[in-house]
Amino acid sequence: MIDNTTVAKILDAADIVEVVSDFVSLRRRGVNYVGLCPFHNERTPSFSVSKTKGICHCFSCGKGGSPVNFIMEHEQLSYYEALKYLAKKYHIEIVEKELTDEERAEQTEREGMLIVNEFATQSFEDNLFNIQEGREIGLSYFYERGFSDNIIKKFRLGYSLDNSNSLFKMAVSKGYNKNYLFKTGLCVDDKRGGGYDRFKGRVVFPVLNVAGKTIAFSARTLKNDQAKYVNSPESIIYTKGNELYGLFQAKHAIVKHNKCYLVEGNADVVSMHQAGIDNTVASLGTALTPNQVRMIHRFTENVTIMYDGDSAGIKAAFKAINLLLPEGINVRVLLLPDGDDPDSFAKKHNSTEFLNYINDNEVDFIRFMKRMLLDEVKNDPIKRASVVGDVITSISLIPFEIQRSIYTKECSELFGVDEEILVREIAKKINQNKQKEYEKKQRKISEEKLENKREEDIIVPIYNEEKNDIIKHKTADSNAKNLFPYEKEVLKYIVKYGMTDFCIGNSDVKNISLLTYISEELDIDEITFTNPIYIKIFSIAKECLNDFNTDLAIFDEDLAKDNINALKEGVNKIRQESLFSIQDLEKKEKELNEKISAEAKKKRSEFQMYYLEKRLSSHIDDDVRLTTLELIQEKHSLSKIHTKYGVLKSDFEKLDILVPQALYNWKDALIQCQIKECQQSLNLTKDAKESAELLKAIQELYALRKDLAQYLGDRVVNPKN
Ligand code: ATP
Ligand code: MN
Repeated sequence: MIDNTTVAKILDAADIVEVVSDFVSLRRRGVNYVGLCPFHNERTPSFSVSKTKGICHCFSCGKGGSPVNFIMEHEQLSYYEALKYLAKKYHIEIVEKELTDEERAEQTEREGMLIVNEFATQSFEDNLFNIQEGREIGLSYFYERGFSDNIIKKFRLGYSLDNSNSLFKMAVSKGYNKNYLFKTGLCVDDKRGGGYDRFKGRVVFPVLNVAGKTIAFSARTLKNDQAKYVNSPESIIYTKGNELYGLFQAKHAIVKHNKCYLVEGNADVVSMHQAGIDNTVASLGTALTPNQVRMIHRFTENVTIMYDGDSAGIKAAFKAINLLLPEGINVRVLLLPDGDDPDSFAKKHNSTEFLNYINDNEVDFIRFMKRMLLDEVKNDPIKRASVVGDVITSISLIPFEIQRSIYTKECSELFGVDEEILVREIAKKINQNKQKEYEKKQRKISEEKLENKREEDIIVPIYNEEKNDIIKHKTADSNAKNLFPYEKEVLKYIVKYGMTDFCIGNSDVKNISLLTYISEELDIDEITFTNPIYIKIFSIAKECLNDFNTDLAIFDEDLAKDNINALKEGVNKIRQESLFSIQDLEKKEKELNEKISAEAKKKRSEFQMYYLEKRLSSHIDDDVRLTTLELIQEKHSLSKIHTKYGVLKSDFEKLDILVPQALYNWKDALIQCQIKECQQSLNLTKDAKESAELLKAIQELYALRKDLAQYLGDRVVNPKN
């Protein structure tokens, strides 16, 4: 548990742009920032981050939220873990208590596995530096390969002792759960209550996820008679095809240089970083996957493939090219001199030499294909044509027309093929691809339809003879649900504008908040929210009112101080500027005054506007947070209000009309519900007296509707359901 003051401190410190930037490369667009959404696959950015509002949102898949939400979703963490993550980022101290055995057992599997992996990482590191066997075997091996202490620590390299179960015994003695040791693959169950260490006698490369948590290990043997690498099995925390070795250590450099080097081996990554080329990652021993490509694309759209020059490496490079191109990535390839891999090359050259070599030798994918393929086929015209066919296939994968046409031109020049012919062939290929994609989509849609149908089937009312009843939702229930959209509309105004000043008509009472207004209105008519989550949010909002008033007073004090300072500074500047007439001077000072107070007014209204939204969207309760986000992001259905002059006004400017209207709509819907209920009872009753009473009630309710309608004039708009 973290105490409330610390939570508030963390939430205040967390800057959404900074938090998101650790995972997504953001560009400024107007007042907001945009980037590629980390939650779904896309090529054009629809992920928007608002610094002032403190939230992010994907306009395509709808995910996002406050910094806490973002971290929870992105790193798959619990609320508290996300807070801890942010606290660490902002150097805010949290005092955590030791876990009891019970609490340990209660931790989710995922967290448990991550904890065990962290323990193992530390223990392997400790072996490497502090245990004789580790120093003599593991550390001296790394030194032989030229790895420095710094780089070893950066990658958290380690050594697993050459005993069948040292890690197992140590972990169990420290109270770690055996199951997690098995599930992470660190140990293998011996079925007799014990376990074997999987990585014994090997040097260990921990695989960190993009947030820096150890999710797997890649362990290299130092002997000749064993498979070179033993890796952790896939698990709920580790999917090989979704991770990149070195990404955690490389991500900032990738963004900085707007470029990523892709190599094959763990050792290559480490060596490249040591050589100062630290925007380098590897694909964990598998062929590159689309998910890995997307992962890279979040940080840059420039990738240089740096695979071995042997035939396996070249084949892998071709495959990688065709995976990178459809993502809109600019692909280059660097071939190293014969017999060298990035690791050995980095050893022989300093970083300037290496970078120069890269600059001089990296080529775009077409040149690379030409060099690789034409060397083989020499002048055989048929084979030559098939090479051009391969290049056309690759170009047709590029999603952007401009890039495509540039490469088409280059291909025409390099291969001496008429450009027009190429354009035609590429267009043909693109159409084929589209057709395939379309068919795939159709197949998916028809599958989904089938599934939906099944759901519908379940809802169809069935008459049950025994019970003499229809098995279906109760009418009362569905009546209540009919009210949810109306409640939602009102709650939206509360969440978005609850703390802003509100006045209706010509009233002079300015210092009543919108929240108070709504709350009083509801009290008068004895109306309450019925949706449980709305009830909760409403009551939290009301609880915030007290805090808000204190916070606003503090804010005002600070603002006043700032204003005075700004004024002093401004006046000094004006007086220094040069010789003015007294009138000029007065005019300038008046302008300054106006500017400062306008800015202050804006700051104050922003403070009021976002106060509730910020709190609710970072609230500990999952439902509160998510519902708040839904409310913030949904457009108001009544927002298109034209004034007499035909000017479109924003929601905020029209609250005095919109809010009463939303309340009215809700009340009216309530009355309609009651009418419906009375009518239903009327249909069922056989008692004459009761019938008469019900009829009277219905008439009264209709009269009430009419009164309400008159009260608001004819501005009746219904929220969309
Ligand atoms: P080194 O330079 O020490 O020989 P490396 O890390 O450069 O090692 P490569 O032989 O280039 O390794 O292999 C590339 C990657 O493929 C490795 O980093 C590892 O992730 C994976 N790999 C290699 N051999 C195996 C194996 N036998 N089993 C599983 N994965 C392997
Ligand atoms: Mn190697």
